[in-house]
Amino acid sequence: MMRTGGSNTFFIHTFGCQMNQADSGIITALLQQDGYSASESEDDAGIILLNTCAVRENAVDRIEHYLQHLQGLKKRHKGLIIGVAGCVPQFQRQEMFSLFPGIDFLAGPDTYRSLPLLIEQVRSGQRAHTLEFNPAETYEGIDPVRQNPISAFVPVMRGCNNMCAFCVVPFTRGRERSHPFSSVISEVRQLVASGYREITLLGQNVNSYCDPDEGRDFAVLLDTVSREASMSRIRFTTSHPKDISEALVRTIAGRQNICNHIHLPVQSGSSRMLGLMNRGHSIEEYREKIALIRKVIPGVVLTTDIIAGFCGEQEEDHQATLELLSEVRFDLAYTFFYSERPGTLAARTLEDDVPEAVKKRRLQEIIDLQNSISDELYQKAIGTVVEVLAESESKRSSLQLMGRTETNRAVVFDREDFNVGERVHVLITSATSATLIGRPEHSPVTLS
Ligand code: SF4
Repeated sequence: MMRTGGSNTFFIHTFGCQMNQADSGIITALLQQDGYSASESEDDAGIILLNTCAVRENAVDRIEHYLQHLQGLKKRHKGLIIGVAGCVPQFQRQEMFSLFPGIDFLAGPDTYRSLPLLIEQVRSGQRAHTLEFNPAETYEGIDPVRQNPISAFVPVMRGCNNMCAFCVVPFTRGRERSHPFSSVISEVRQLVASGYREITLLGQNVNSYCDPDEGRDFAVLLDTVSREASMSRIRFTTSHPKDISEALVRTIAGRQNICNHIHLPVQSGSSRMLGLMNRGHSIEEYREKIALIRKVIPGVVLTTDIIAGFCGEQEEDHQATLELLSEVRFDLAYTFFYSERPGTLAARTLEDDVPEAVKKRRLQEIIDLQNSISDELYQKAIGTVVEVLAESESKRSSLQLMGRTETNRAVVFDREDFNVGERVHVLITSATSATLIGRPEHSPVTLS
């Protein structure tokens, strides 16, 4: 049976982080340049492309599950082409063809420009792949297609030179390379001209940005972006603790439109574990960075990532993580228990020796503690007025809007006569541990 959208329509299913969402915008632009058109759903598409993430085992499990569903679809729809792009094929390579006979082509994070050629090769009867690393590839000159008209991601660097023992990114996305300063600024100017209200600078290790032309660092880039887009909120993610400089912290404090929120993954509260994880800093150094950030940026909100049960973790290491959470009082923590990723430093050199039941128990203790902290922090916001950038209609009711504070807290509020894209002062009237709820207090806000 032929699909309704025709053979030159494509649908991208994106898994994983904001970097992958940004990459899907690049893939869309590249395919559209070549005459393909995006379809609204997988049911209409002649080509289905999965843009994948290999960082967490459960993400890979979801992708494998989805591929099984696509294999069934392919049996019913002759001529349907299925491609897998991003980190999973870069990691599993051609083995994916034997694991999933329905896959027609594979592309890595550095080879999206080859996608039209791969599709042509499939149409000539081959199974095709391009999985080379290209240390020069930053997709400069590609104008990504963005789904969200309010908020835009701008990748400023790709890859990572750190070798955290648990992480596949250095093996799937290759060495760090920064986009030229001038191309980031011209992309930001285009976004401003198009009316974007929020710009998020992205990189696996965004604060190690280094302009390849003149060596300008991330603090200079962030400061320049905030001046170019002075009416927009500016965010950035993800930061590595060792690359938080005083100049960067002072830049955030000194520019009103740079959001007072830093996501600063710590992974463990124990220096011994940070050493085994090869994180490149001790917990004392992390605490010093937190102290500097809190001293220089009043009202800053911090969020983090934690891994429970990494190789060799003892009960005292776990207790150190709980103590750190109690002390720093992060707004939110993304928490996982350790699962070995093949090919990583840990898989090659360390024993995954914490029993799964212990990992899960420690993870639950971390989640319970963090939830109680988040709950207290959110309850404290009741009665305050916060500025919210309205991002969308609330999922529950068209009479409510959903948006975020500059500190990245989700807020649901009564719509009244406000629209998506407006800044609204909202009086917080109640809260859960993950969402603030309120009603508009003033007319739309203009940031000066
Ligand atoms: S800094 Fe560490 S965790 Fe982050 S992408 Fe690089 S290797 Fe992975």
